[in-house]
Order: sequence, then structure tokens, then C-alpha cells
Amino acid sequence: MSELRFEELRGEQVDYAIHRQERTFLPTREHCPLCPTRPGGPQTEIPLPAFEIVVFDNRFPAFEAPLGAAEVVVYTDDHDASFATLAPARAEALMWVWRQRYIELGARADVDYVYIFENRGVEVGVTLHHPHGQIYGYPFLPPVPKLELAADARLGGCAPCTLLARELADGRRVLYENDSVVVYVPYAARWAYEAHVVMREHRPSLRDCEPAELRLLADALQTLTRGYDALFERPFPYVMAVHQAPTAPVEPTTPVEPPAPTDVAAGVLGTGAGAHGHLHVEFYPPLRTADKLKYLAGSEQGAGTFISDTLPEESAAKLREAIARAA
Ligand SMILES: [Zn+2]
Ligand SMILES: [Zn+2]
Ligand SMILES: [Zn+2]
Repeated sequence: MSELRFEELRGEQVDYAIHRQERTFLPTREHCPLCPTRPGGPQTEIPLPAFEIVVFDNRFPAFEAPLGAAEVVVYTDDHDASFATLAPARAEALMWVWRQRYIELGARADVDYVYIFENRGVEVGVTLHHPHGQIYGYPFLPPVPKLELAADARLGGCAPCTLLARELADGRRVLYENDSVVVYVPYAARWAYEAHVVMREHRPSLRDCEPAELRLLADALQTLTRGYDALFERPFPYVMAVHQAPTAPVEPTTPVEPPAPTDVAAGVLGTGAGAHGHLHVEFYPPLRTADKLKYLAGSEQGAGTFISDTLPEESAAKLREAIARAA
């Protein structure tokens, strides 16, 4: 079992999941635990000879019931694929899987925040190369979504709606747009090639999206990740973070409309009319050039202030070119 301790100086939780030391670390491809179990081959985590998308409980969970959840989402049975190279229909299906996990985990009393993410590349600590993401169900509201809710209060409305309008009005950092989704390097990006993928309409979570919006979200995410791989002509490492409405009641800092009755029935609070949260996906890539990594060092770790060597407008211009090359 993992243990939560509260770090008083920073006012934040630290999760001790010491069993995770034993987890599989960069196995050879013959021993990949996320590959299918092929006839005559070794037994993997997935007892099927072929599959499309598979979700299962993490064997080395950072959180587990009755204090949260940790799941693995395997995108494909093709060991050498990546999110960017999935067939569009598979990427779209993945959005529906995410949505279903958000609803199911979010309905649990011990899950206050459903966090879907992907770590890609050894540069961000990946231990398995097989294309997959993860989902944590936090038994509390973590600091980053809490900061985003505070931004809503500071801006007097939905922060992602406000910031999206600013980015569209400025235009210099916009990377890609379709009918439902806009991709941009944010005005105050912390990472050289940070990008935010934001729903045009105010959609607190995946459950609030129309089917066409889910398809166009997958399209925008794949367009960006293909552009990333084209940027330095190498697999581009990143952390992908899906931010949505919390699934537990939040202490409102501004008046919030009560959730619609259907949300209450499903046990998912915090979504619905007037709720805080606006579905968006953030990418934090550690590369600042083809072979130089950004490290979080003195200023970032000890003072909490990012120092960047690149301007978001210049990064956006390079990324737009890469996206065009990859198209
Ligand atoms: Zn594999
Ligand atoms: Zn919004
Ligand atoms: Zn966010």
C-alpha cells in the first residue's frame, strides 16, 4: 500500500509507493509486458494474441482503492507504434476509452481527480517503450488543477476560455486549428516547445464532448505529436497531461451553478453547467534543441521560477513548419 504524507512547508501531498522500486525497467522487446501474449511466446500482462486498446490496473500502483486508482492504457498491440502513428480511427477510439475511464473512475467516492497522462521517452523517465499512457485517480485535488481553478477565480470566469480567446486574437503562437480544437504554444510557456490543445467550446470534461469533438481532439493531438517528431527528425519526448474538471465537489472560490441533475445521478460532480474545469491537453517536452535537455535546476526547483532560453513565438514558428512538413 502506498502512503500519503503532507509536506507542510509547501502545503502539498507526497505519495510513497515504495513497491514501485520493483517495477519492470526497460525490458528487451522480447520481454515487453505490454505486448500481446503470442502463441508459444511468454505470458505478458495481456493474455490475448492481438488487441486494439487495453486498460488494466497498474501492477505497481501509485494509488489504489480505497484511496484512488492507477491504470495503464495500452494504445495498440504494435510495440513500435506511437500515439502519433496510430490509425486515426484508433486515436479516436482512445478518446472514447479516456472518456469512459473518466466517468467510471470519477464516479468513485475515493477519486477526486481523474488524471490521464502519457510519459514518452527515456528523457522523461519512461520504463516501458510500448506505446501506452496511464490514468491516476487521485484521492485529493492535486496542486496543478487546484492552481487552474484559482486562475478561474482570478480571471473572473473560465481561464482556458479566456486564454484561448487571447491566443486566437494574437495568433502568433497558434500551431493548428480545426472546427473544435485549437493548438498553441502558450504566451508564458515554461518549456521551449510546450503546447496546449484546447477545446474551442467550454467543455468541462470528455463526458461533455460531442462525438465529433472527440474525433477532432484526436486529430489535433495526432497533428501536434507528428509535428513534434518532425521537428528534430527524432522521436520527441514529452509529458502529456489531460486536464479536466475535478470529479469531487470543489470548494468554489466564485459562485458555481449546481451540477445538472444527470451529473448528480452519475455520481460525478464538478462537471455540468457552470462547473469549473475546461478540457485541455498540455504537452511538456524536455528538449530545447535536437540534443539538449532542459533540466529543472536551482531556479525551477528551489524558487519555482522557470528560466527559458527560447521565446514562445519563435518556438511556435518552428513547430508550425514541422507540423506542415509532417502533414
Ligand atoms: Zn511491447
Ligand atoms: Zn472554458
Ligand atoms: Zn492545464
